[in-house]
Amino acid sequence: MIVTNEISLRTQGDTDIIDITARVQKIVTDSTINNGIATVFVAHSTVGITTIEFEPGLVADLQKVWEKLVPKNIPYDHDTRWGDGNGYAHVRASLMGASLTVPFTDRKLTLGTWQQIILVDFDNRPRSRTVIVQVMGE
Ligand code: ZN
Repeated sequence: MIVTNEISLRTQGDTDIIDITARVQKIVTDSTINNGIATVFVAHSTVGITTIEFEPGLVADLQKVWEKLVPKNIPYDHDTRWGDGNGYAHVRASLMGASLTVPFTDRKLTLGTWQQIILVDFDNRPRSRTVIVQVMGE
């Protein structure tokens, strides 16, 4: 069986990092599928999905690393072409990736104790975002 659901949320942009673990787990729990995989996907070009130990120190560390890896204040061809000033956000999102697949057993995600699913919104302004969660299994 396959169940597809969505999570809607507001972000602040500017590498805003949001823990969506509980909402993904609720979709798995409510799916009536006992064992399988949950795919978490964002259809947005300035958002990434990954996992982290969600605590304020690491959240700040990840934000700082992105600024070093893909700085905001260097020229991007995308900004020259489109003028929306978020070339860095698109590049960061491409590097992080737009999806994550997590196995679950007995309707529980097999995440580690210190491992949460996060959405990272790199865009340069607050946005409304939709996360697609597709649950497959039996
Ligand atoms: Zn853009």
